Amino acid sequence: MTRPQLQVLPGYGETDVEPYVDFCGHCGKRQEAAAPASRVCGNCHLGLIVSAPGSLAPGAKEPFLIVDGRLQVCAVSRRAERLLGIAEADVVDRQLTDVLLPADAEAVGVEGFVSTIVHAARGDGIVRDLVVRPAGEWGIRWFTRIGPCATPSAVLIVLAPNG
Ligand SMILES: [Zn+2]
Repeated sequence: MTRPQLQVLPGYGETDVEPYVDFCGHCGKRQEAAAPASRVCGNCHLGLIVSAPGSLAPGAKEPFLIVDGRLQVCAVSRRAERLLGIAEADVVDRQLTDVLLPADAEAVGVEGFVSTIVHAARGDGIVRDLVVRPAGEWGIRWFTRIGPCATPSAVLIVLAPNG
């Protein structure tokens, strides 16, 4: 008995197949369905176009980060830069946990946080119950939506500062 080979596909999953939408990894602007051949955003001309399931993709005002399957930061949106007080260039290739930690890191450690994000990279569905805070700051709690984006093994973390 061998298990059927699972493939990571956009909208992967038997029950939650959902169309992906394209948006800019910097300014977050949703792109038209017929995206130009260029993968650079036509709005800000700075971000690359990435895609994620429609219910995960950031809204117009939602800050977000993208990390790879090893939890290294790939992109920080313009609004997330402002929210976190960081510059994308300073944190790209750093570990996510240098930037964000679970809100209860002192109590439970970061292992569950890391594990959740690694699973999200595999397309296990959208995680909506993870609460984070900026690394090095206390008393701030942001709700998140976390799930797969763009290429297999990348993870989109949308921050919802207002709950
Ligand atoms: Zn843009």
